[in-house]
Amino acid sequence: MATITKRDYYEVLEVTRTATGEEIKRSYRRKAIEYHPDKNPGDKVAEEKFKEAAEAYDVLSDANKRSRYDQFGHAGVSGASGGGGGYGGGWTMEDIFQQFGDVFAEGFSGGRFSGFTGGFGGGGQQRYVNRGSDLRVKVKLTLKEIATGIEKKIKVRKHVTCKQCRGTGAENERAYATCPTCQGRGQVIQTVNSLFGRMQTAVECPHCSGEGKRITSKCSHCHGEGIVLDEEILTIKLPAGVEDGMQLSFRQKGNAARRGGVNGDLLVAIEEEEHPQFIRDQQDIIYNLVLSFPQAAIGGSVEVPTIDGKAKIKIEPGTQPGKVLRLKDKGLPAVDHHGKGDLLVNISVYVPEKLTKEQEKTIVDFENSPNFQPSDDVIEFIGNKYRNMFG
Ligand SMILES: [Zn+2]
Ligand SMILES: [Zn+2]
Repeated sequence: MATITKRDYYEVLEVTRTATGEEIKRSYRRKAIEYHPDKNPGDKVAEEKFKEAAEAYDVLSDANKRSRYDQFGHAGVSGASGGGGGYGGGWTMEDIFQQFGDVFAEGFSGGRFSGFTGGFGGGGQQRYVNRGSDLRVKVKLTLKEIATGIEKKIKVRKHVTCKQCRGTGAENERAYATCPTCQGRGQVIQTVNSLFGRMQTAVECPHCSGEGKRITSKCSHCHGEGIVLDEEILTIKLPAGVEDGMQLSFRQKGNAARRGGVNGDLLVAIEEEEHPQFIRDQQDIIYNLVLSFPQAAIGGSVEVPTIDGKAKIKIEPGTQPGKVLRLKDKGLPAVDHHGKGDLLVNISVYVPEKLTKEQEKTIVDFENSPNFQPSDDVIEFIGNKYRNMFG
């Protein structure tokens, strides 16, 4: 996907970062009316602004998306678009009317509002589209998969379009009769009082859902629903740096809608598998390195595991337990691609549990040596370490 420089969503809607949901909605409605295709026919700039406002509203009106956006910026919400016609990839005007129709509708007195009389792309065929329900799945990832990001194939059971009738719900092409309510036009004319004055609006025929015809003989495979339950393998791209509990949404990869329409979304909840050696702290990875007593005293070079291999680290002579060595950029990438965490190597020291007679004889001489008594500085250092851990 090409890199598009995006404007800040708060800037797009001209609201502060602390704006309430109501303020955001009000501002979006203002923008939607200002740049509405009916008021700006053929104006590509207005169309872009209309779409930009819709995208900003989509994120800022959803608490979950908004907090991800606040934390990670555009990448926090766009990484999930999965290449499948999501953000940036461009919403169609139909998507916008369908998704936010209720927001527009509040500005009008006419109850359910049917997509501003079409307008875009010509045709005047704009109508409310059925939307399939969202599909929720959990995906378990290892820390290593999280470090690189990964493409996963997942098997789901979901509503798909019936192949026999291609989603129409009709047994065959002859199984239709003209709708008596709209005489096949699919629309009926309604007069509404709107912000722009009295408007005659063509609304979807309530009896045939705008199809202009009704089915006389239902598809035997789906019983006229146009959808059936089936298994499907979905390929989804999970960005690097995701966290346990995060939810990513993949537009229109969810359940198919009844008798044509757009799919719901696929909502993927991330679960993180526990790593046998590493503990994750946001973007940092913590590794506990246990040194032998002579290693800690004499120092030397030690190999530690990293998320993608190994690294050699230098142990200074006289290294205390509780000391933390930081390996820059050996942690996890941020989900917004801004920077990387570190690998923190926490030092522990192993004290022998049993000594041979000979070893004991050697060590006992050290016991009274002032060299083997912890200094006040070291006592304070180790004390602080535990205060931080438990405090
Ligand atoms: Zn009709
Ligand atoms: Zn069917």
